[in-house]
Amino acid sequence: MAEARCLSERAGHATAIPASYRPTLHVLVNLGLGVLALLLSLAGLARVRAVELLVVPSTFIAMSLLEYASHRYLMHRSTRILPYAFEAHVLRHHASFGPEHMAIGASREIGLILFGLREVSLFLLATLPGFALLAWWGSRNVALLAAAMVFVHFLLYEGFHLVAHLPADHWAARQRIFAGARERHARHHAEVQTNFNVTPPFADWLFGTLGRGPRS
Ligand SMILES: [Zn+2]
Ligand SMILES: [Zn+2]
Repeated sequence: MAEARCLSERAGHATAIPASYRPTLHVLVNLGLGVLALLLSLAGLARVRAVELLVVPSTFIAMSLLEYASHRYLMHRSTRILPYAFEAHVLRHHASFGPEHMAIGASREIGLILFGLREVSLFLLATLPGFALLAWWGSRNVALLAAAMVFVHFLLYEGFHLVAHLPADHWAARQRIFAGARERHARHHAEVQTNFNVTPPFADWLFGTLGRGPRS
């Protein structure tokens, strides 16, 4: 019954996506811009000192915590500061993809998975002050390495989330590298208090919300 409701919810939300929506373009723009920003960040590096590389693991940890906190406290709770995040994530995304119906049935349903322009802009706005601070406090290399790691995180989030919602027989879904992320994210859709990281689950491990294996 709940699963039938999920499919009818999804059909309703998919219908609300504009007719001009092009899922392939959405994937190419999000992943393409992420790769371009990553390459531009790396291209700006010059004579990197070993100590500057410490920002790489530090940014991975910071981004894992930021992803965890925003998913747990902004996307899964209706807040005054960002009601759109709850609406897009819980009322549209989770309502459309129940634990027994994780896979998209049509490519335009990618519009219910990937970040839209508003989410990408918020993501950049949340991270830009960090780059400015690092350039001022550290060095240009430190800021660029942090930016590169932020874009790696963005690509991992979008890539892993998309693959987690592809049908099991899709070539990408069959790659072993995505098996853990698909399993963890399916469990998040079944038990929403577990697995807030879509990317490698450092913060979930840290806060004891990492759920692995078959659901209980
Ligand atoms: Zn969620
Ligand atoms: Zn999902």
